Amino acid sequence: MRRSIVAGNWKMNGNLEVNAELIAGILKEKSSAQGIEVLVCPPAIYVAQVSGLLEGSDIGVGAQNASAFESGAFTGEVSLPMLADFAVRYVIVGHSERRALFAESDGQVAEKARAVLLAGMTPIVCVGETLEEREAGGTLEVVSRQLRAVCDGLDADQLAGMVVAYEPVWAIGTGRTATPEQAQEVHAALRALIAEADGKAGLEVRILYGGSVNAENAAQLFDKPDIDGGLVGGASLKAKDFIAICSAA
Ligand code: 13P
Repeated sequence: MRRSIVAGNWKMNGNLEVNAELIAGILKEKSSAQGIEVLVCPPAIYVAQVSGLLEGSDIGVGAQNASAFESGAFTGEVSLPMLADFAVRYVIVGHSERRALFAESDGQVAEKARAVLLAGMTPIVCVGETLEEREAGGTLEVVSRQLRAVCDGLDADQLAGMVVAYEPVWAIGTGRTATPEQAQEVHAALRALIAEADGKAGLEVRILYGGSVNAENAAQLFDKPDIDGGLVGGASLKAKDFIAICSAA
């Protein structure tokens, strides 16, 4: 049985006061979401604050990005050992915003995912097609290419231990969610791709859906057999909505 995960990706939002309020709200509401893994991914500068606020709770802290390099002359970057100092256990890699706005390639995403695994942390590897690619019938080809780049060279334990997030670009921040059927089709294909490399890893790997998940549509999405939870943007900035989504998983 795969344990569901709901991760809140705060993106570049928040400040000291807003974060404290949001975490207090999440901790207050949390009792309604038992038995699943819940994590929040604040901007890097607030990881220390949020880790401190969550100390002693069962809510994890993730990072939105990290360098694949361990240390050195990489101005502006944050390393995995630095994040580990603040109890970060998950790192989002290859989010479509990083691919599109910061030109991260499949190869760089793969390097980051590998570095996260080698650091003993869990990568949340994002894949997803643009609207143009979907309309041209290229969805499965695009997400398979993106995932294959990461999987190449990983062993069975690493394949099983990563988390994949299917985030169709056209569904991110648009209010236009993939239907549960559209998402399930892609999730099943991603799982099959991992199962080709290792059957057990295919069964064990957790695949999250992301893209306009909200308190209303979460349950139907999470009901699908290959959807193991969600990566939530906008709705993770409101404690009540976020915990309602967690409760649906
Ligand atoms: P929204 O939930 O705001 O559509 O964002 C999804 C996302 O990009 C999470 O990583």
